[in-house]
Amino acid sequence: MTGRPPDTLDPSDWHDLRAQGHRMLDDILDYTEHIRERPVWQTIPDQVRAKFQQALPMAPTELSLVHQQFMENILPYSVGNTHPGFMGWVHGGGNPVGTLAEMLAAGLNANLGGRDHMPIEVERQITRWVSALFGFPDTASGLFVTGTSMANFIAVLVARSVALGNSVRQTGLQSSAQHLVAYTSAGAHACIAQAMDMAGIGMDALRIIPMNDHFEMDTDLLKTAITTDRKLGLTPFFIAGTAGSVDVGAIDNLSQLADIAEQEQIWFHIDGAYGALGMLAPSIATRLTGIQRADSIAFDFHKWLQVPYDAGFILVRDHLAHQATFATPASYLRREAKGLAAGSPWPCDFGPDLSRGFRALKTWFTLQVYGADHLGQMISHTCELAQYLKKCIDASAKLELLAPVALNIVCFRYLSAQADNLDQLNADIVVALQESGLAAPSTTLVHGNIAIRAAIVNHRTTSVDIDTLINATIAIGDRLSQPRQE
Ligand SMILES: *Cc1c(COP(=O)(O)O)cnc(C)c1O
Repeated sequence: MTGRPPDTLDPSDWHDLRAQGHRMLDDILDYTEHIRERPVWQTIPDQVRAKFQQALPMAPTELSLVHQQFMENILPYSVGNTHPGFMGWVHGGGNPVGTLAEMLAAGLNANLGGRDHMPIEVERQITRWVSALFGFPDTASGLFVTGTSMANFIAVLVARSVALGNSVRQTGLQSSAQHLVAYTSAGAHACIAQAMDMAGIGMDALRIIPMNDHFEMDTDLLKTAITTDRKLGLTPFFIAGTAGSVDVGAIDNLSQLADIAEQEQIWFHIDGAYGALGMLAPSIATRLTGIQRADSIAFDFHKWLQVPYDAGFILVRDHLAHQATFATPASYLRREAKGLAAGSPWPCDFGPDLSRGFRALKTWFTLQVYGADHLGQMISHTCELAQYLKKCIDASAKLELLAPVALNIVCFRYLSAQADNLDQLNADIVVALQESGLAAPSTTLVHGNIAIRAAIVNHRTTSVDIDTLINATIAIGDRLSQPRQE
């Protein structure tokens, strides 16, 4: 007799679950549709935070009640990156098609570590799409990962294996007579240094090359550093260029980096976390020339492409080198020519994850439903908004631009003759802006000064949101720089 297992997690009444599910779907689509009516972000009240100090629930709670808790205590206090006024760090805005695709992926619950099933073909399809986009051969290997931090780490490991031979996986770095050194720009993301740390090579082995006036890696200084290191008997093995730097949105001269890497026989990696997908916009693609010569590219679909978190990606030109870095024989992962264990190599042969979710599906839906042309236009539009913001700053005597605007990131500050500490004033302005719920930029340091940093990544942002940012910055700046009334 096949009855309902007593402890199954499926409902006894699918009708009720379905009705509740439809309400949840409506709520999250309502949230997205009406996002502009909400504050970008709001301070979490103490009593809300306190609700998450409870003991593990032993007894069941109605789904509708848990959903209600989500609506009241979680949804209003999320980070805010779906909102068009969110301009902090580099956060994508997500998209409703991606939301729906995530729901389908969760229901399918496929494990993309390996085996022969169609979800893995979707991931392979995306690998071929991005290979073509970046001018890589169609034999290039690709893998979805959490984000570019992980993708950069994977690239360092592949380059290490290529430099020292695959025996390094067995014997470790300490048995090698060669001392690896890598190169990146002073404007590179900190996760490159972290990748060197996690790979066991160490952050000291990462040479931080100064930037030129355009915040691009100074390629003459790069050449000098490589020569110096070779004279010291060290082994240069990895150059990480940046396509879209996190502070100001600069693009390293990728062609020159490719030339140097080729002459010096060094692995050429590109951190294109958000900038690489600028390839979809013809005006940006021309500025990424040289990307097609990289050995590996790390980038995120969850930033400029607006795929819901998380959807990072590593693309490697030489699939054999990539596979040799990670593939591990294990009896329980034996491959067959037919059956469910067919389809080798598997995604788990290209990275450290074995169990993996179906990140490819929300990416495949997003690319198909919107189409690459429209997505490229959306990306260019964020750059046009950044130019508009720059114009507003140039037009105001109270604001100062702190870095050139190469892409979609604008660094500026509020000026005040009264303030004795401009850095503190601008840091305070950013906190006040965030607490106002009107706009949420973040801060960074440009030439040692605190900058208000607006990264226009969200496809929902318009010139009205830029006006709001400018007006609120000036109003808050004026208020905070008034001499205090004691
Ligand atoms: C965002 C970003 C990263 C880190 O990517 P994650 O997806 O957050 O891990 C690395 N480099 C650059 C240039 C970035 O903008």
